[in-house]
Amino acid sequence: MVADLWAGISDELRREVGDSNHKSWIAPLECIEVSEDILRLRAPSRFVGDWVKRNYHDQIIAHLQKSGLAVKRLDFEFGPARVAAAPEAARVRAGHDDGLQSAPLDAKLCFENFVVGKPNELAHAAARRVAEGAAVTFNPLFLYGGVGLGKTHLMQAIAWELQENRPDMQVLYLSAEQFMYRFVQALRDRQIMDFKNLFRSVDVLMVDDVQFIAGKDSTQEEFFHTFNALVDQNKQIVISADRAPGEIKDLEARISSRLQCGLVVDLHPTNYELRLGILQRKAALFSQGYGSITIDDGVLEFLAHRITSNVRVLEGALQRLFAFSSLIGQEITLDMVQDCLSDILRTSERRVTVEEIQRKVAEYYNIRLSDMLGPKRTRTIARPRQVAMYLSKELTSRSLPEIGRRFGGRDHTTILHGVRKVEEMRGNDSQIKEDIELLRRLLEN
Ligand code: ADP
Ligand code: MG
Repeated sequence: MVADLWAGISDELRREVGDSNHKSWIAPLECIEVSEDILRLRAPSRFVGDWVKRNYHDQIIAHLQKSGLAVKRLDFEFGPARVAAAPEAARVRAGHDDGLQSAPLDAKLCFENFVVGKPNELAHAAARRVAEGAAVTFNPLFLYGGVGLGKTHLMQAIAWELQENRPDMQVLYLSAEQFMYRFVQALRDRQIMDFKNLFRSVDVLMVDDVQFIAGKDSTQEEFFHTFNALVDQNKQIVISADRAPGEIKDLEARISSRLQCGLVVDLHPTNYELRLGILQRKAALFSQGYGSITIDDGVLEFLAHRITSNVRVLEGALQRLFAFSSLIGQEITLDMVQDCLSDILRTSERRVTVEEIQRKVAEYYNIRLSDMLGPKRTRTIARPRQVAMYLSKELTSRSLPEIGRRFGGRDHTTILHGVRKVEEMRGNDSQIKEDIELLRRLLEN
């Protein structure tokens, strides 16, 4: 990169011209770009530029050529360095079209609209901490989880909150795809210096869906440098991805290990309580928009029960019900839900039973079904049993006591213990995690 090259040459020149000359004439120069056989530099004033041209022109050219650049001429621009201008341009305010623009933020994606439950409480707490804008305690914050579990929501909530709390801070939120797009554009327009300077001038950088840059080598490389530069300056970084850093295929090892240096939190799949909470919140929001539409008892519970895939689908379902109900001027009933959402309900339909889960899990771990239900407590039996308990809780609508009865008459606290145990292992044992994912897929098809 030209900037690095220039930094090296500037160092060499220090040795040749002495510290005080260097400080007066060379250090204030900013390298803009090399194009064809011209190196463009920015000098703080015409006077400095002329002086450098007269006194150091040939020396600088010699160094450039020594480092392999076929540069024959220096060209000067004058005026304050662009680095200084960057912070203004980097404002997060959506809609500003100058310089480094943050991706537009969705007004709905704020903390007030984020419903907190067991599956996301850690991610939420970490996001809240970052949003305070106080001294950086963990860097980066790495949020991961499946589609539609609230990663983007939390990141944008951080951006909104920081705008409130710390208007002095430059906050930049963008997707990894946008990062790449800007990088490629900068390369094409030979504005890589600007790109670097702008990205290094933010106080908080948030990059969404970072798995996107995996396998894109030069973008990864640039991301890595930007990342390191900001971490070195103690600037907060927030990253999201659809899986844990170590599990992103084709992501360079050094990047994935840097990503794990801070706080890594995952958003777990939603549970019934969270889904119901979200539905209640959204229903309240929609009611404001649609006027007085009443929802029959049991409708939200039914939806929370049946639509388990992701929150976006859940939201879409509710949206459709409101639209439909306002169209025909009737309250939202369970019958309407059946008619109106038959497509969504069909794909979310799961007739998985506890018995089926037990059978599949026993088969998968190669143990006897009778052992799974029996009293043996050796690890080789107990582990699969707990996995089966966990899946029963996740994939069926059975209550803990009901599940307990089907596991050879065990107490509901035993089931709860098993479920918790597996939840915990999912976080730090990638084998278990993989097993569960596989079994889940086997059972859902
Ligand atoms: P992701 O980025 O993880 O794929 P999003 O943040 O885009 O998911 O969330 C998908 C949709 O679900 C958004 O409309 C978001 O507002 C909503 N959503 C997800 N989790 C929650 C939550 N805990 N509370 C309220 N809404 C949520
Ligand atoms: Mg997202």
